[in-house]
Amino acid sequence: MATFYDTHAHLDYPDYAGDFAEVIARAQAAGISKMISIGTSLDSSERAIRLAEKFPAIFAAVGWHPSDAMKAPSDLRPALREMCKHPKVVAIGEIGLDYHRLPSSGGDASSPQNATGRRIHNDDARYQQKQADIFQQQLEVAAEAGLNCVIHQRDAFEDTLAQLKPFAGKVRGVFHCFGENADRMRRVLDIGSLVSFTGIVTFKNGQNVRDTVAAAPLDRFMLETDCPYLAPVPYRGKRCEPAYVKEISETVAQVKNCSLEELSTATCQTAQEFFQKLLS
Ligand SMILES: [Zn+2]
Repeated sequence: MATFYDTHAHLDYPDYAGDFAEVIARAQAAGISKMISIGTSLDSSERAIRLAEKFPAIFAAVGWHPSDAMKAPSDLRPALREMCKHPKVVAIGEIGLDYHRLPSSGGDASSPQNATGRRIHNDDARYQQKQADIFQQQLEVAAEAGLNCVIHQRDAFEDTLAQLKPFAGKVRGVFHCFGENADRMRRVLDIGSLVSFTGIVTFKNGQNVRDTVAAAPLDRFMLETDCPYLAPVPYRGKRCEPAYVKEISETVAQVKNCSLEELSTATCQTAQEFFQKLLS
């Protein structure tokens, strides 16, 4: 059986509280031999580390998600520097920029409202500035620690690439859940970074992602679920879990016109080289 890794899973989420051990056992039975639990806050990162300590197949990434930027402490660096020392912390993430739901669109409930209940437009600038600040802090920690980054960006491709670029040569990013076109993918690859693909590749309306997969060099991308979100067909709409990398790999192998074994070798090698502490 071809083995794969789930390079982006939110295993600390309460979705798995009832059947965690079974979820991990199903993943291993499906040939998903390593999983990276991705942090979205300091607490979530701590939980990811605890899971990694308990389960040999689980590794952790530590970081603060841009969507929760307003809740982040003013300086994330000291706490992250400490966490990076852990032998199973393989990356900083997920970090980046997300302009999909700005405060003015009512996306961030924590932002203040004016007397009429409308979010104040200035909040958008404040929110974007805070996202940029914590992204920058986390890139700095990654550079110091010699770790790569798991990048989340939504509706913020240009700004994310621009902020990552000065770190090229020191820090590489994987643009996770990649849904951009092939030209944008090449611009990511050009700065030494990578992309990874989720179950969207199996969706009926996922042709744009399949086109990007088709254009991706076999040694420059990884596979992930982003579970509990984005369950692939035939589980679409249900809770996702790492075992479903199997369905994702089958579709990607078809699109790449390669065998599952070739895809396994390429994606696992890419992941081991990118997340160097996965080897240990
Ligand atoms: Zn995620």
